[in-house]
Amino acid sequence: MSLFNEVDVVRAGFFNALNEDPARIDLETLRIEYLGRKGKVAGLFKQIGQVAPEEKGAIGQALNELKQELTSILDEREAALISVSSSDKKSAIDLTLPGIESPTGSYHIITQSLNDMIEIFGRLGFSVAEGPEVETEWRNFDALNILPDHPARDMQDTFFTKSGHVLRTHTSPVQVRLMQSQSPPIRSIMPGKVYRNEAVSARSHAMFHQVEGLYVDKKVTYAELKGTLELFCREYFDTDVKLRFRPSYFPFTEPSSEVDISCFLCHGKGCRICKHTGWLEILGCGMVDPAVFEAVGYEADSVTGYAFGIGIERPALLRYGIPDIRMFYENDLRFLRQF
Ligand SMILES: [Zn+2]
Repeated sequence: MSLFNEVDVVRAGFFNALNEDPARIDLETLRIEYLGRKGKVAGLFKQIGQVAPEEKGAIGQALNELKQELTSILDEREAALISVSSSDKKSAIDLTLPGIESPTGSYHIITQSLNDMIEIFGRLGFSVAEGPEVETEWRNFDALNILPDHPARDMQDTFFTKSGHVLRTHTSPVQVRLMQSQSPPIRSIMPGKVYRNEAVSARSHAMFHQVEGLYVDKKVTYAELKGTLELFCREYFDTDVKLRFRPSYFPFTEPSSEVDISCFLCHGKGCRICKHTGWLEILGCGMVDPAVFEAVGYEADSVTGYAFGIGIERPALLRYGIPDIRMFYENDLRFLRQF
């Protein structure tokens, strides 16, 4: 076969390969196969030496033409691929399109609220203490001066396990654990889940979250308790929030107070959320009862301390105008993504 014929064979092979797959994207392989340093066209050039001298000029020209022809076809095809419209998805990949983002999760609104509180109390020098959600009756009740005939110990209010343990009704058992294992000074908050045997409704749930705080040292005063809570409420709710301490009763603190804050939605003017009183009931607190210190083995006349407890769900309900506490736990992404 003369070299002229071979030029035709190579050309035909090239067009066959190109037309086999008109939408061919992998032009580079074809370019290497035909125009590469060891490609088919280069192979033809090598054979020029064996051609009769009078034919060399013509065959050289034919080879150069072949090389130019294939080069320009490949260049055109490549340019066409790059400029192909994005609607023509079958024949091209548009490398300029932005990628598909995978969805990222976020913190649950309750976790966010807890983290905010932990952060604020952390700046005030409170560490974080945690404990089990299944507790002994002694830690949940007796050690906290809640006597055996107290109505809170009734089956109606508390979940009891078959083994006689309770699902903690507050995070106070963690305070007991802390005092049993450490000497004063103690300055900690106890965030976590608590359980009450209540019918689940829009306003109450059988499980909710609390943050309790405990500060025990020599000569801790009620004024320090007030100062700490005022600072916390201004950071957490609103910078100009006012606090109102009302006398109350808890078995584990004496004296005890319930604390209202001026409504952070209407700034005390009165609105639907604060039932037009201008105040929101937000937390309970007091000075630790000496009976609690005795129960954990402290010398009750040498230490003093304060404790407080604040719910997580209720302030969040108020702040975001959420109508139903159950929405926190239904895991409806349409709800959760709003925060
Ligand atoms: Zn209000």
